[in-house]
This record gives sequence, structure tokens and C-alpha cells, in this order.
Amino acid sequence: MNWDGRADEDHIKRERAKARELKASQWWKQQIGPGLCHHCGGKFDKKELTMDHLIPVARGGRSVKSNVVPACRACNQTRGHKLDVERAFESLPSDVVTSRTDEGDDEV
Ligand SMILES: [Zn+2]
Repeated sequence: MNWDGRADEDHIKRERAKARELKASQWWKQQIGPGLCHHCGGKFDKKELTMDHLIPVARGGRSVKSNVVPACRACNQTRGHKLDVERAFESLPSDVVTSRTDEGDDEV
């Protein structure tokens, strides 16, 4: 496992398959039942809600109940966009970026 921001392909394939299973589960139907987006709190038709990974699969996140939330398409897309921006920020000098220490950023 490398931590340059990309998970390996096997992980992504496995977790995406698990996400599909989770989406078909009774548990997920309960999550989207109220029709609320986790991020903006808006009310949507169930069909409009997508499964959003709090830690994206591509970043090593898993398709487990504690890592997936219902999100409207707009929020899901905004978040995806934000992550691209984050990636761009990573190449900037560190004093420009708010430090993120949640990925095992050990001091050397
Ligand atoms: Zn939303």
C-alpha cells in the first residue's frame, strides 16, 4: 500500500464491488429512506441520492457502514471536485496548506 494518494487497483475493485452489495442491502435502504443528504441536509428523492464514501475508495477508504453516507448528486460531485483541488494543493509549499495529519503524517 502506498500513500501518495492512490490506493492500489485491487483495493479499488474490491471496495467498489462491496459498495454495490451494500447499496442493495436493507441497511442502505434505511439510510436513504428519509431522503436526506448527509452533507447539505437537503431532502431528495431516493433516486437522487448516491452512496458517498467519506474516505474515498481511491484513497484507501472502505465500503463499510461507517464510511458511506447518502449524498445528493450535487454534493457528491462537489466533493469529488474538492478532492481534485486538494490534490493540486499538495504540490504547494506546506505553509500555504492547512496541514492534514489524519493519514499518519509522522514527524521526521
Ligand atoms: Zn447534498
